Amino acid sequence: MRKLIIAIDGPVGSGKSTLARRVAALMGYVYIDTGAMYRAVALKALRREVPLNAADQLAALTGETRIDLRAKDGAQQVFLDGEDVTTAIRTPEVSQGASKVAVVPGVRHVLVAEQRRAGAQGGVVMEGRDIGSVVFPDAQLKIFLTASPDIRAERRWREHQQKGDAIDLPRTLEEIHERDRRDSGRASSPLVRAKDAVVVDSTAMDSEEVARLVVMLAQNQASAGAAR
Ligand code: C5P
Repeated sequence: MRKLIIAIDGPVGSGKSTLARRVAALMGYVYIDTGAMYRAVALKALRREVPLNAADQLAALTGETRIDLRAKDGAQQVFLDGEDVTTAIRTPEVSQGASKVAVVPGVRHVLVAEQRRAGAQGGVVMEGRDIGSVVFPDAQLKIFLTASPDIRAERRWREHQQKGDAIDLPRTLEEIHERDRRDSGRASSPLVRAKDAVVVDSTAMDSEEVARLVVMLAQNQASAGAAR
């Protein structure tokens, strides 16, 4: 069977990471979380006190940054210039920062090129906001994952709770609305559903059901391609 590129896009808290990780495990594919790359750039900018609206400085900073994504026990580890930042990039401050640096075309240009290199051979499940629309418009399977805002906020809030982040549910809902607005409203590669994406609403489905559905779609694609 041929090795596919599976693109999974959707808003904050739609369940993309859980889905992408599970589909990659079931198919024996590599899992790539592109949001982690924007987060790593944001972390570096915050540490160096580069203003998050300084487009030229942010683009230059991204150009001189090495981000390595390594698979470990079915999850992804993130290295920023050789330092393990897997946990450090998951704070609410870095989440907001990531959606600010992601507005800058020069930042996107560098990261998209890296994402294309990482996925070029196929056999990948790549998740983000623009994978099916910009990074791999020819991906053989594109999923646009959604869920109601309340459910998305609740899922994100539970994750924060588990990590001990002091952020309450109403603030989490506000935070995801803020990021949704920025991700959907930006001029450069906004969050949009690719025309040929399959829309999956995960509000009333459990994550395993969603994963099995996507694997079924992927297997159909892989065998259809092999038969052509
Ligand atoms: O997916 P995650 O929440 O980790 O992404 C962090 C931020 O990075 C998003 O809010 C979005 O602004 C940005 N992003 C993006 N394009 C991607 C992945 C993430 O703009 N492909």
